[in-house]
Amino acid sequence: MNGRILLSMKTHNLVDRLQPDWVCTDCGRQWGLWWDGREYVGPATHCATFHIGKCGVCGEKKSVTEARDYGYLKEGWHEPLVE
Ligand SMILES: [Zn+2]
Repeated sequence: MNGRILLSMKTHNLVDRLQPDWVCTDCGRQWGLWWDGREYVGPATHCATFHIGKCGVCGEKKSVTEARDYGYLKEGWHEPLVE
């Protein structure tokens, strides 16, 4: 066991127990459960509040919001991408 607990959603995608504080739109679209590729599949009425801050995924200073505003991030977001 590595101490990480995975929660099962309605889909087969897994939400990572470990979530960053802030996520930029680029990372949110890549990792958020409400994003399927380039298509938004989350609730139509959801409102997210953005501010300029450091993204917890890519580390860049961008327009960020909470991970929950992307439906939380999929498992593996914090692992470095392997080419
Ligand atoms: Zn980012």
